[in-house]
Amino acid sequence: MELSDDIEVLKGVGPKKAQQLHGLGLCSLFDLLTHFPRSYEDQSSITPIGRLEAGERATVAGIITGLQEKRAGRRGMVILTATISDGTGFLQLTWFNQKFLKQKLKTGRRIFASGRTAYAYGGQGQLAMSQMTSFEIVEDEGADMEAKCGILPVYSAGENVKQSMLRALTEQLLGLAEAGELAVPEVIPEGVRQQYGLLPRLQACRQIHYPEDRQQVEKARYRLAFEELYLIQYGLMLLKKRRQERQQGIRFASCGSLTGGVLSSLPFRLTDDQQNAWQDICNDMERPVPMRRLVQGDVGSGKTVIAMLALVKAVENGFQGAMMAPTEILARQHFESFSGSLEPLGIRVALLSGRLTKKAKQEMYDRLAAHEIDIVIGTHALIQEDVSFANLGLVVTDEQHRFGINQRAVLEKKGRLVPDVLVMTATPIPRTLTLTVYGDLEVSLIRQLPPGRKPVRTFVRGRDRRELIYKFVLEEIKKGRQAYVVCPLIEMNEDSGLSSAQEVYEELTGGIFYGIKCGLVHGKLKQKEKEELMQEFYEGKIKLLVATTVIEVGVNVPNASIMVVENAQRFGLAQLHQLRGRIGRGEYASYCIFVAEERTEAARQRMEIMERTTDGFVLAEEDLKLRGPGQFFGSMQHGLPDLKIADVGQDIDILLRARQAAMETVKGGEGLPEVLAALQLQYREQFFNITEN
Ligand code: ADP
Ligand code: MG
Repeated sequence: MELSDDIEVLKGVGPKKAQQLHGLGLCSLFDLLTHFPRSYEDQSSITPIGRLEAGERATVAGIITGLQEKRAGRRGMVILTATISDGTGFLQLTWFNQKFLKQKLKTGRRIFASGRTAYAYGGQGQLAMSQMTSFEIVEDEGADMEAKCGILPVYSAGENVKQSMLRALTEQLLGLAEAGELAVPEVIPEGVRQQYGLLPRLQACRQIHYPEDRQQVEKARYRLAFEELYLIQYGLMLLKKRRQERQQGIRFASCGSLTGGVLSSLPFRLTDDQQNAWQDICNDMERPVPMRRLVQGDVGSGKTVIAMLALVKAVENGFQGAMMAPTEILARQHFESFSGSLEPLGIRVALLSGRLTKKAKQEMYDRLAAHEIDIVIGTHALIQEDVSFANLGLVVTDEQHRFGINQRAVLEKKGRLVPDVLVMTATPIPRTLTLTVYGDLEVSLIRQLPPGRKPVRTFVRGRDRRELIYKFVLEEIKKGRQAYVVCPLIEMNEDSGLSSAQEVYEELTGGIFYGIKCGLVHGKLKQKEKEELMQEFYEGKIKLLVATTVIEVGVNVPNASIMVVENAQRFGLAQLHQLRGRIGRGEYASYCIFVAEERTEAARQRMEIMERTTDGFVLAEEDLKLRGPGQFFGSMQHGLPDLKIADVGQDIDILLRARQAAMETVKGGEGLPEVLAALQLQYREQFFNITEN
């Protein structure tokens, strides 16, 4: 048997069961092997019922003393309740819509259950457990439960796939592997294993599923997380190495008078960080290996200028350049600023707008193909559409994490020669994530803001201060400034108690902002409507813009100097920081006010960090620590490989070691068959296709 075999090869898994398992994402034996426990149930630490406290996680064991079945709701949900006792007290266990359990739950049977306890609904102070992470009914009275005691895995299970089923399957799987009937090949080279003190693969798998003690879990987790990160790093480095060896890129000449002229015509001097990033880019561009560089810098740190210089350098060498912006309006802004500085020097800049008529678009394509345009700016459509270039030399993307490694590869096929690629991102990304998501790119950081920038002053205030806050906003507007008000929701949601953009808009326009032109933008508007509103705000016609986070990736409105964020506790730190970056872009003193209700200490601390620092990198690290990578990326998950055990928020040490090890392996000669096979099995097209040349 092989790890790539379908799960159906296991005993007890027929076509129906297999389908249910597939529904859980468990298709192959490999999937099952790496379906690592979510937690463990330590049956040696059973809490006596009499000592339980509400809100606590615990495992209990008891005899069923009473059973009840009820129907509730219009659709007749079945509620099963069992009362159990262990001699120290009584506890209610409740199952919703699991009618089939009725045959199993019999008075007098013994049951184990794990979960969080709460006070029973309507039952004077009696404790209940209704959301159990696991439970086990001792089927056969004579069964020696003690024998099973120890640490049991708790898996993510499903409606038709029970905990006990998964346990039986992992046990069977490990048994087959240990008997040599299923091959679980070692994927980390022996030398690396020795050097980094890693358990053999199969042993680690046994220990992660069925550990004898906590220490075994730790050692197994270290090995398996290392393996996961090592494989990804190895894959990324291999891609990079192949690109360097095989791809013929463009060797741009060192900077001449055109680039020099643009540089000296800038109304400011580059900051040191900008200078370094520019130097990195020049070095890359002047080498024959295609550039793949990521410039990471906070909003307003001056990345756009650097991008412009790189594009000019491409033009100076007789090539064309393309720049992709995340939104149409941003593309337009870049176009305006670029053409302002570059047209006088004879550089032909064009905007490929989604709004062009079909005819105008075609004309633009023709001009691009005939090299009558030097620099084209547009949205992502620029690479996806049927655009062909006469001589594309450089692509700049402002990516906001929306591109995976696979999509980036599309770019490489656009030009005659392999164009250089510069990726810009305004969201600071913690180092662990950079290495994981952008591991195939070189990174330049811009950490300083240009001098003379008035820092945004940040305040966190409770809801009871809203009236005063908006009075202040009104005063600023009367002085000629503009303001943003950001809300977490579009429409009213009665349960959440959160302010919706709609509601706040009505409240403000009908109240203290009566007679002042306000706008409301949110994601449900048509793209065109949204852009028109943003345009009006940009032109200063709209004074106050109530919005959802659609403005996160937004326009540069230097006159907007004030921002209020409602229910700020609902946003991540990185996101708040991103929002805050919309202001403080002009000559005016800027204010950012987070209206937050901090119900918990953690929420309060989170908010305080926002007051204390404006360093996006610090905030990003904090955010990742506090909320984990899933939340951190939110809807931007693209490009992040699916990690089954490693945690990029916590495992920076393991990542750095795995990276080091992978680097050594790749240096030692590419294509270790076992590592390649593992990559192929685990990541296929999902992350990158390593076998593609
Ligand atoms: P980013 O693209 O990183 O968000 P921008 O390139 O839009 O930042 O820069 C923000 C503003 O700062 C722009 O108006 C730009 O002209 C200005 N700027 C950029 N670099 C400098 C600098 N070194 N000194 C002064 N102002 C600068
Ligand atoms: Mg090059």
